[in-house]
Amino acid sequence: MSSTDSITTQVFIGLGSNMKEPLAQLKGAVAALRSSPGIGNVVCSSVYQTTPMGPADQPDYINAAVQFDTTLSPIQLLDRTQLIENRAGRIRDRRWGPRSLDLDLLLYGQQIINSLRLTVPHSGIAERSFVLYPLADLAPCLSIPGKGKLSDLLDRCPQLGITRLQSSL
Ligand code: ATP
Ligand code: MG
Ligand code: MG
Repeated sequence: MSSTDSITTQVFIGLGSNMKEPLAQLKGAVAALRSSPGIGNVVCSSVYQTTPMGPADQPDYINAAVQFDTTLSPIQLLDRTQLIENRAGRIRDRRWGPRSLDLDLLLYGQQIINSLRLTVPHSGIAERSFVLYPLADLAPCLSIPGKGKLSDLLDRCPQLGITRLQSSL
């Protein structure tokens, strides 16, 4: 992203994988975001190992979050993240089933979006420890539109089934 770009929005994305070398999947996703036109200043959270949400007969997940500035619209960003997911071999069969890569748009500035393809803030943002802890690494003072302060959401969300790893992205 060039410094002449005028309207930039701060975005947070949640990353998850529990197939095909999850840590490498997340690293690949960060590299793909870093090399995307219209995306700049990418910063990564710590990396976490988490127990699966949904079906229990699947491996633990590796989760993290990234923060960046973008000139892309929300839908352009969704197209970009879905392209990166598809290139990682993402197959959608079982709801919340195992996946090589999941990139969820958590926050797009302070915007609230309810369209056919996009709900922002992400619908699970307030209850998911594997989203809230990585977000707190990046922006502990964050306020989430319609949901309140991140610190209050964290107070209500026990650190159960989530372990911070030494690895970084
Ligand atoms: P969850 O969204 O509960 O974490 P999931 O990540 O497994 O579940 P996906 O299969 O990745 O769900 O996405 C299903 C659809 O969700 C996508 O086709 C996309 O259009 C829609 N969607 C709505 N809001 C968002 C968002 N904030 N980020 C990413 N996808 C979203
Ligand atoms: Mg998801
Ligand atoms: Mg998703």
